Amino acid sequence: MRPVFRFAPSPNGHLHLGHAYSALLNFDLARESGGRFLLRIEDIDPTRCRAEFETAIYEDLAWLGMAWEMPVRRQSEHLGSYAQALQRLVAQGLVYPSFESRTEIARLVAEREVGGDWPRDPDGAPLYPGGSKVLSPDERAQRLESGAPYALRLDVAAAVALAGALSWMERGEGPDGETGPIAAEPERWGDVILARKETPTSYHLSVVIDDALQGVTEVVRGQDLFHATGIHRLLQRLLGLSEPSYRHHRLIRDDAGCKLSKSSAATGLRALRAKGATPADIRRLIGLAWV
Ligand code: GLU
Repeated sequence: MRPVFRFAPSPNGHLHLGHAYSALLNFDLARESGGRFLLRIEDIDPTRCRAEFETAIYEDLAWLGMAWEMPVRRQSEHLGSYAQALQRLVAQGLVYPSFESRTEIARLVAEREVGGDWPRDPDGAPLYPGGSKVLSPDERAQRLESGAPYALRLDVAAAVALAGALSWMERGEGPDGETGPIAAEPERWGDVILARKETPTSYHLSVVIDDALQGVTEVVRGQDLFHATGIHRLLQRLLGLSEPSYRHHRLIRDDAGCKLSKSSAATGLRALRAKGATPADIRRLIGLAWV
């Protein structure tokens, strides 16, 4: 079977050197292994994604010398598939609506922290502290009917109890990269958001559905998503989806050692190009030789 790789950017800013590394690594690995290379546009958030950024992604990747299979999957065109998958989780009794605003959540966390540390997820965000999971069916129905905004959360304890122990196959990068089976620890994320009232999906839900639908066999992405793979394995098991192998690659950092951001002009591909950089310069800057 031919391996299938993908690069899956969100069009909420211009691509920088970190994206170039991820995209080119996937592209090179596909070429070296006789595999396929797909591009997917992760544009589920209409408040942050813009058509001009999507156009720029195509231009920047083509400038780097990359080609991808058509048609490109744009997540905003498949919201129905994600909603269907969400319904399967709802039917399994694993999803509940939470009604607290971000401000209320911050207040609840501050209250809990008076008594000591409140647990945080691997990205450093506090776990959901609210009590919406234990609302009575009547209270829940009343709040939904009132038109209040809500987020749909995975009851991670119930989901883990149903799914059992999980792991993924990691082919980490470089001498420090972990390789081999890694135990998934989805409970470290608490009751993650799977959808919101106005958006029928989330990054976690749409990424596992698309990787399965597109037959992706190798997920190659940044180390910042290493721990998120625990949630992805859980959703794959609950939804009966295929399980790719994972390679979480090193992150390209700026001179101060910080992760690059989409708003930093210094490492943006467009800005570098405007200053006369060539695709070969970009490869040199990120330490990826031509193959
Ligand atoms: N869309 C995600 C991002 O831009 C990447 C998702 C993934 O590779 O799993 O960070």
